[in-house]
Amino acid sequence: MASNSNGFLGNLGIVRSPGAPVPHRKHTTNCETVDMPVPATVSIGMSQHIGAPCVPTVKVGEEVFVGQVIGDSDKFISAPIHSSVSGKVKKIDTMLMPNGSKAQTIIIETDGLQTVDPNLKPPVVNNHEDLIKAVRASGLVGLGGAGFPTHVKLNPSPEAKAGIDTLIINAAECEPYITADVREIIENSWDIMSGVYTVSELLEVKNAYIAIEDNKPEAIKIMENIASKDDEHGDTVKVKVLPSRYPQGAEKVIIDQCTGREVPPGKLPADVGVVVMNVASVATLARFLKTGMPLVTKRLTVDGSAIKEPKNVRVPIGALVKDVIEFCGGYKEEPAKLLYGGPMMGTALASDEMPIMKQNNAILAFNRAEAQSYEESACIRCGRCVNACPMSLMPTKLEQASRFKNVEALKEYNVMTCMECGCCSFVCPANRRLVQSIRVGKTVLRNSGK
Ligand code: SF4
Ligand code: SF4
Repeated sequence: MASNSNGFLGNLGIVRSPGAPVPHRKHTTNCETVDMPVPATVSIGMSQHIGAPCVPTVKVGEEVFVGQVIGDSDKFISAPIHSSVSGKVKKIDTMLMPNGSKAQTIIIETDGLQTVDPNLKPPVVNNHEDLIKAVRASGLVGLGGAGFPTHVKLNPSPEAKAGIDTLIINAAECEPYITADVREIIENSWDIMSGVYTVSELLEVKNAYIAIEDNKPEAIKIMENIASKDDEHGDTVKVKVLPSRYPQGAEKVIIDQCTGREVPPGKLPADVGVVVMNVASVATLARFLKTGMPLVTKRLTVDGSAIKEPKNVRVPIGALVKDVIEFCGGYKEEPAKLLYGGPMMGTALASDEMPIMKQNNAILAFNRAEAQSYEESACIRCGRCVNACPMSLMPTKLEQASRFKNVEALKEYNVMTCMECGCCSFVCPANRRLVQSIRVGKTVLRNSGK
């Protein structure tokens, strides 16, 4: 019996090449995105990105507007945070975020008017510097889940930039259930192309790939059509069709698929001349440049056996998970497992009273039958986890090293190279919690300072 990192995807057989043939379960592909009404309050965390958290720039009792900056930081690796609603700041508190961290959170009582910040206007962009400033002002971070500030990614050092020749737009969406990115393609394809051209010009790259798994034929057709009609940009943008084998969307895997280049352990995509951006991120950037409205809403897939009406929903950032689920008809039955993100890489939530963050792309709720936790048994040394690992790691060794807090072994077996894709746990017939152990191992190594 195979299970994934969250333990409930069922029996899928033997893996014959790296990665895993996870079931797609893309039930909501044809569900057009619907807008969720603004809830009574939103809780907007000050740490929704990799890097320095923001500091609130508003006070309790202050009126705020949609798109207004409410948190910012003077650190380079950070991104401003904006209000997704109009209303009054009710409280500034510390709250547990879905990623397990505690963050200062601005709780806003909404007024239901959704008055837009009167100062918002499209940015004036005359040169490279203006564009980088605009990207920062948009509050954009990697929307595929990573949350890395986009203005930092798009502003490499002159030496690094000189070596970059390829932009890859990650539209693989290889996690089961999630269809938020495919809806972005179907509903906003021209925003995507506009964003691709802007970023290609910014980075001065001549090759751009929009990489999509072959289980999304409509999305492939749409992007191929648009790319072929654009005479102005020639054939700089190509659609790369990927096999539907998890984890095609992992950065190192997608780079290999599109360019044949291998990112060595400890190195970054830019070191092999590539920048990878999520498809929703480029589209959001294009919309910001047109309208001046920063990142204040997020499209999510809400699905799973415990959800009454699975949907793709555009939600105000800071809405609570329970409000989003309520908008989807509520729970069909008591959820035994609630996930923030997909079943392979998502985080299990202890409660639905947590806010939606910028990089979230799904909420999944499963009933007891589907979520039954698989009991761990002893490793039978079958080697499936080793065969499945796309990074050629040895998950069993890493698990052991982690359990014994063996820093030297964690280093020797390259724990930091693990991209936490969950393939090893997925294929393990003994239901070993390999990824969880590896995550702990990474923390052990980081804390050791070695
Ligand atoms: S060891 Fe890491 S990279 Fe390899 S399969 Fe497991 S989670 Fe994925
Ligand atoms: S942990 Fe052991 S039982 Fe599980 S896949 Fe790896 S070798 Fe097989």
